[in-house]
Parts: sequence; C-alpha cells; structure tokens
Amino acid sequence: MTKFEALGLDKSLLDAIADLGFENPSEVQEKAIPILLETETDLVALAQTGTGKTAAFGFPIIQKIDSASRTTQGLILSPTRELCLQITNELKLYSKYEKNISTVAIYGGASITDQARQIKRGAQIIVATPGRMKDMINRRLVDISKIDYCVLDEADEMLNMGFFEDIKDILSNTPDEKSTWLFSATMPKEVSIIAKKFMHSPQEITVGTKNAGTSTVQHEYYVVGGRDRYPALKRLADTNPDIFSVIFCRTKRDTQKVAEKLIEDGYSAGALHGDLSQNQRDLVMNSFRKKQIQMLVATDVAARGIDVDDITHVINYQLPDEIETYTHRSGRTGRAGKSGISMVIVTRSEMRKIKSIENKIQQKFISKKIPTGMEICEIQLYHLANKIKDTEINEDVEGYLSAINDVLKDVDREELIKKIVSVEFTRFYNYYNKTRDLNTQDSGDRGRDRDGRRGGEAPSSGSVRYFINVGEKDGYDWMSLKDFLRETVGLGKDDVFKVDVKDSFSFFNTDAEVTEKILATFTDLKVEGRFVNVEVSKNPGGGGGRRDRNRNSRSSGGGSFRRDRGKSGGGSGRDRDRSKKRERSFGKSENSGNRRSKRKKNDFF
Ligand code: ADP
Ligand code: MG
Repeated sequence: MTKFEALGLDKSLLDAIADLGFENPSEVQEKAIPILLETETDLVALAQTGTGKTAAFGFPIIQKIDSASRTTQGLILSPTRELCLQITNELKLYSKYEKNISTVAIYGGASITDQARQIKRGAQIIVATPGRMKDMINRRLVDISKIDYCVLDEADEMLNMGFFEDIKDILSNTPDEKSTWLFSATMPKEVSIIAKKFMHSPQEITVGTKNAGTSTVQHEYYVVGGRDRYPALKRLADTNPDIFSVIFCRTKRDTQKVAEKLIEDGYSAGALHGDLSQNQRDLVMNSFRKKQIQMLVATDVAARGIDVDDITHVINYQLPDEIETYTHRSGRTGRAGKSGISMVIVTRSEMRKIKSIENKIQQKFISKKIPTGMEICEIQLYHLANKIKDTEINEDVEGYLSAINDVLKDVDREELIKKIVSVEFTRFYNYYNKTRDLNTQDSGDRGRDRDGRRGGEAPSSGSVRYFINVGEKDGYDWMSLKDFLRETVGLGKDDVFKVDVKDSFSFFNTDAEVTEKILATFTDLKVEGRFVNVEVSKNPGGGGGRRDRNRNSRSSGGGSFRRDRGKSGGGSGRDRDRSKKRERSFGKSENSGNRRSKRKKNDFF
C-alpha cells in the first residue's frame, strides 16, 4: 500500500497521482487529506508556499463531489488569475481518470460570456478570483447556493490584496451547511477574523511554524551607492550564470526600465507589471515558466500569483515599503523543499529596514559584497569550462572536421584549451577589467554575517577561499555543502562560511588555519566513485585575501555565455527585437544602460 493509498484516496486519483510522479504525500497533504475525506468539517491549514497545498484540498474535493450531478458543488477562491488557472490545470490533472468532472476557471481579463457558457454546461467545481466571481454572481451567471465545499486558497494573499469585502459578499451567497477549507501560508489578524466569522469550529493543522519565513531561504544584503543599483544587479547576475530569478522593483516604471536595460545589455529578462496588457503578461509568464526568461522583473502586485518552482534567487532591487511584502517576495524561492537565496540591494540609509525585516522574519541576513570584476571572470571561466565539458557533441560537425583539423594542426592540446576558453572569456575580461568596486565601504555599523564577522571585514586570521568541483548538479545546496565539508574535514559549526553553490562547482571560505587540513582531506578523496577536488581559489579578490568577498547572486548577463540559452526577453515583439542587439551591447560600460535614465535620474533611483 502506498502512502497515498493509506490516506484513503480512490483508485482513479491514485492512478492520476502516479502519472504526476508524486511518490509520497507532503506533510500538509498527509495531515489534511484524511480529515477532509473522513469528516465534514471546516479546516484551517497553515503551510508555507511550495508545500503542496493544492493537492491537499484538490484530491479530497474531487473524491467527494458527486460526478453524476451537474450542480456546482465546490468553489475555490484564489487571489490571482495566474493561480486560478494553475489550480484549474492541477485539478484537471488530478481528475483525469474521473468521468464527468468539470472544473471551470473564472477570472478577470477574459470574456465573461465564454466563462458563463462553460458554467452553464455544468461545472461541479469553480475556481475563481474574488472580483470576477462577485461580478458573475451579481449578473446571475453562476449559482453557488448549493455548494458543499468552499476553499479559500492563499487566504493571506487574498486579504492582502483587499478582497475582504468581496469574499464576504461571495460567502453570503453560499449555504450555511457547507464546509469551508482555508489554506494560507501565514496567519495575520485578517485571516483569523475570516476564520472566526465564517467558519464553525474549524480543525487546525500547521506545517512548520506559523508566520515564519521559509527557512530554506538564505537572506543576503549588499550595500551600494544609490546610483549603483543597476550595475550591482548585473554583477549579481553575472556571478550566477544559471540564475532563474524574480527581481522586485517598487514601481511599474522602475520595473519596466530595469527589464528594458537588462534586455538591452544582453540578459534574458522580461517585465511583469500592471501596465502591460493581459496578453503581454501571459506571454512573459509563459516564457518564464519555460525558463526562456531567466530574470523576471516584477512589481509586487503583478508577482502575487507567481507560483513557479525552482526559482534560485529573489532579488530585491529596491526594498518594499511594507515589511510584510518582503516575506511574500522571498517566499517565491526555496519552494518544494529546495533552497533559495533572497538578495537585497540596499543603500546605507536603508540599513535600518534590514533590521526590521530580520525581526519580522526571525532570521538573520548575511552581509555580502558585490563581487569584483575579476571574481566574476573567475566564475565565468569555471562555468565555461564546465559547459564545454557537458556540451553534447553535434554529430553534424563531423563533415567539417578534417578541414578544421587542418586549420588547427599546429596547436597542441593545452594551447587549444586556452584558445577556446579565451574566445568567450576575453569578452568578460575586457568588460570587467579595471571596473571599480561597487561596495559602499562602510556597510553601516551593523551587519555581522552568519558567522559573526562584521560585514566587509576580514576575519583577523585571514580567510581563504576555495573552489570545489561539486555543485547543484550533484545535489548540493549551500546548507548541505556546508554540512558535507564540516563532516568530511571534521570542522566546527562556524568554520565553513560564504558557501556559494553553482551548477557544477562551488566556492567556500574557511579561516587560514584550517587550509592545510582541508587540502589534505581532499587529496585523492572519492565520493561515490568520483574525485572531489578542492583548490584554493586563484582570485586574490575572490578568495584567499583579506577581503570578504562573496558572490552569490547571479544573473546572466552581459554575456555571450548565455547567448545560446534561447530567446531572451519574450515579453513583447519589441523585447524580442532587442535581444538581437545583445551581443553588440555587451561590452558597454557598466553604466551605459543608464544613459537614458541619467537625464531623468530622479525618477529612476
Ligand atoms: P503551495 O500551494 O503549497 O504553494 P503547490 O500545491 O503549488 O504548493 O505545490 C508546489 C509544487 O509541488 C508543485 O509543483 C506540485 O506539483 C508539487 N507537489 C505537490 N505535492 C507533491 C507531492 N506529494 N510530491 C511531489 N511533488 C508535489
Ligand atoms: Mg498554492
């Protein structure tokens, strides 16, 4: 008996679950599903984003509704169109082996007549945004007077977005004897008010701690001058060639500008904000989901519905006005058990806000430095070497090989490697060579990093940076790599720091005293049949020296390294045209993207 079977789910659902590839129920599923299947009860379920809440209510609702009747029996309210569509798609997958179950999505920005027609054909389950739902009730296009189940999904987000009155109105059109299931990541006052007002002695389940920020997220801040936000963002991107990120700006205008500049500078980026048409937003989201866009620049409101797994970094280009909002931003990464990084670019005068956020999320920030140009070059070089190693050979080159061999016949292997790498590397090198340090020297008076060191200050004994040839591909994230190093070398809790995991390699620091021990441990060490190699990082800035370097963000960037990563932009035809310019614009000075905004500096920074 599988664990899903043990929860009491029917065969048709179990088959669908097998197709989805879910092996074991998540914690919230394990707790919620049996309760919802066995009893008619109201339920409040608190679990962070990415913990599988959709299936926690989706499986039971599908099993419980009567497919022989065409009456609407279940209503799911969710904050945004995006989520609404996502839940509908998921429910369709869950019910693929059920005959005659119809799930219909109701949301703004699309034809109300079409939606009404679908409902009329008989939808047992409606998934709706509150605004459009209310509209359809007022126009008598839906009848929810006989529903048995009402789900409030992402209740905190819905209330955040000001849907309290709408929800109240909608619920007043539903029967009293229904069951209400409320799912939320956090439990702010407004959510408890809803629970008290509209629910009858609900059972409560909590996964993880209430209101806590996701603990799989590492929070970092970078102090720069106000005018250096954009170049800092680019460096963060360049340090992380495989970045897949959401970048938050405060206003629609900034969002648009940052996205445009990134695209101009050759990054695969797109903008998401309320001034775009629904169609444009859909295009951008689709490209992002397919990872054709690596950096999605978004406003808080537009990003509300983003429910994409695998986001490696959230970058706060500017801090939000409300501290609450930070939790929602950083919760976009570290989903589904993965680790993630939330980076904040701040000016010195904003440092107090970091403190308030730390209090709110009950987690410390790490003070990090914007990488120097040479650190970026080092990372890009390793990245390139790995990329060459992993590149699949295109057999069609065969026909040209003898001619190519002819051209290269006098170049020996070592020289050839140097040349191949230089083809790409020189671009980065020329770009970053002699660029200045972007870090504001005095990173404020606070700011010890997680290891208790003051931001920007080297430990008194001197710290050493290392390169190690394992990374994400080998299943490591910064937490597990740190544990691996500590256990393998036999080091104390705080001995390994500044762990930056890249795709196929990583960097970390230790104090100089343990360097010998580390290098000795990793002479000839094999893990699962493979040599694990550790070297002191060559880059004086990046590693060994007295400066506390850190590179931990990444984006793509300026660089030809990502040229082959598919289309950039994607948001609109205009964006796509821009992407053609990528190569050309690479090599502009770091600030060149600002040229336009320099004229109007004030409305940008
Ligand atoms: P939440 O609503 O809590 O933010 P979702 O329901 O959107 O989370 O699920 C997050 C991701 O985890 C989705 O990609 C989903 O398909 C996946 N998922 C959900 N349940 C399981 C499971 N039991 N096993 C594996 N993956 C799961
Ligand atoms: Mg959800």
